[in-house]
Amino acid sequence: MGDWAQVEPLFTELLRRQPSSAGELEQWLGDYSELCAALSQEEATRYIAMTTRTDDPVCERAYQEFVEQITPRCKPLVFAAEKAYLANPSLDTLPAERYAVLKRKSENLVNLFREENVPLETQDELLAMEYHKIRGAMTVKVEDAELTLQQAAKLLEQPDRGLRQQVWEKMTTRQLADKEALEQIYDRQVDLRTEMASHAGFANFRDYAFRRRERFDYSAEDCFRFHEGVERAVMPLARKIRLRQRQLLGVETLRPWDLAVDALNRPPLSPFANAAEFVRGTREIFSRVHPALGEQFQFMADQHLLELENRKGKAPGGYQISLQERRVPFIFMNAVGRDVDLRTLVHEGGHSFHMLAAREDPILEYRSAPIEFCEVASMGMELLALPHLGGFYKNAEDYDRAYRTRLEDIVLLLPSVALGDAFQHWVYTHPLHTREERSKAWLQLANRFNAGVDWSGYEEQRAHQWHATLHFFTTPFYYIEYGFAQTGALQVWRRSLENYPEAVERYWRALTLGGSRPLPELFEAAGARFQFDYESLEPLMDAIDKRLDRIAA
Ligand SMILES: [Zn+2]
Repeated sequence: MGDWAQVEPLFTELLRRQPSSAGELEQWLGDYSELCAALSQEEATRYIAMTTRTDDPVCERAYQEFVEQITPRCKPLVFAAEKAYLANPSLDTLPAERYAVLKRKSENLVNLFREENVPLETQDELLAMEYHKIRGAMTVKVEDAELTLQQAAKLLEQPDRGLRQQVWEKMTTRQLADKEALEQIYDRQVDLRTEMASHAGFANFRDYAFRRRERFDYSAEDCFRFHEGVERAVMPLARKIRLRQRQLLGVETLRPWDLAVDALNRPPLSPFANAAEFVRGTREIFSRVHPALGEQFQFMADQHLLELENRKGKAPGGYQISLQERRVPFIFMNAVGRDVDLRTLVHEGGHSFHMLAAREDPILEYRSAPIEFCEVASMGMELLALPHLGGFYKNAEDYDRAYRTRLEDIVLLLPSVALGDAFQHWVYTHPLHTREERSKAWLQLANRFNAGVDWSGYEEQRAHQWHATLHFFTTPFYYIEYGFAQTGALQVWRRSLENYPEAVERYWRALTLGGSRPLPELFEAAGARFQFDYESLEPLMDAIDKRLDRIAA
């Protein structure tokens, strides 16, 4: 699948066939799915190799080759296949209920496709890779040790406030040293994206991105209602959490380097000592959510689909990726024995169960849901796992602390989602903006969603804080999804407080639908409303507030 001479004939053969009945067309769709699944798996395999061996230039080249040589050549053929599907005389004889979502997606793809945009998309992706490279090369020196930003960020959890400030200043100074390069990348990306939108007949990239991201079931207005809902329903609780942090720390004002430290100066939670313990304990959690999930997780471990431990030469972060031809999920992460690792694995586990739940569908597109719902699967699993964290946290204080951190992080995530989304709305509806105007827009929004952090004296750092958000560079407009999904996941959680087995049952049933139904139906199946305004957010914040009040530590 990495050899174009072998890939092309498969497309040619597919496009030569002319299915002449509903049955033949379904078979054709299945074969087309299989070809796309094989290509997707090839790309995923190369991506996994590149991120697990960043010091091996062969792996990087192999991935880059695929992105540069195979993906762009496939695009016109995929486009031709979509067109052939839509033009097929048997299309209307397919069961409408079953194929409505697929047809909607295909029509959208065909309507948006412009041959002239293919090279622009490739350029955009290469700029994103450049961003990764620049960020990945950033290091700071702390007490003679050369640390990556990720390693340095861990020091922000240290009780020594002077050290935290010093590390934070070093990190932000280092990031500012590359600000010119990052601003340039973003300038070029905004131009490229605006040009692509214009080729496709859109007034701005925002409207184009909404279509590209297949946002059929909500609009920009829904996003604005979410921003407003966060402002009214979430900010008061976010401020309460920050105020508590400030009071417990006993500091006059809460500074940017005071946010990650434990307010009671306790050492970091350390739930496990090695990968074997990590896997065993996490399987136990999943088994308690539902025995079948524990078995699925064990299957992943047996099949070497877990790449968990941090080591030199691995890319930072964590992700779940699907090997679409084998129809199995794969989890990548950098565990070092911290609470956040546990949270990541439970999260990626939720994505994996989602993939496995829908794996039998012959249509590739239906084996995965829109991202807004994928994150309900993962964030929902984080919340459903809460009652079972005791396997890792044997004493009540640790358990309470982990529970509190989860809930507080959710509350604090929502303003940052609103901020990131609102910023991009501004950027792409003002495509001719200057860098100064962009900074100003960012600052204005950062103030709107600030829960009480004092940045005075660090205005320059703050104005460029958005450089650290990789989504803006790699996947524009991908941000609100987290906010919508979290709202869905919290509804699953609230239901689980009343009737746990029923909440799990509905959650799982929704997962089995994959991407075969529109978003509102997927949310509905999980027992959640597809609505993200003040009315939806307020009762959820109320439930969190009450739960937090019951946690002593
Ligand atoms: Zn996720």
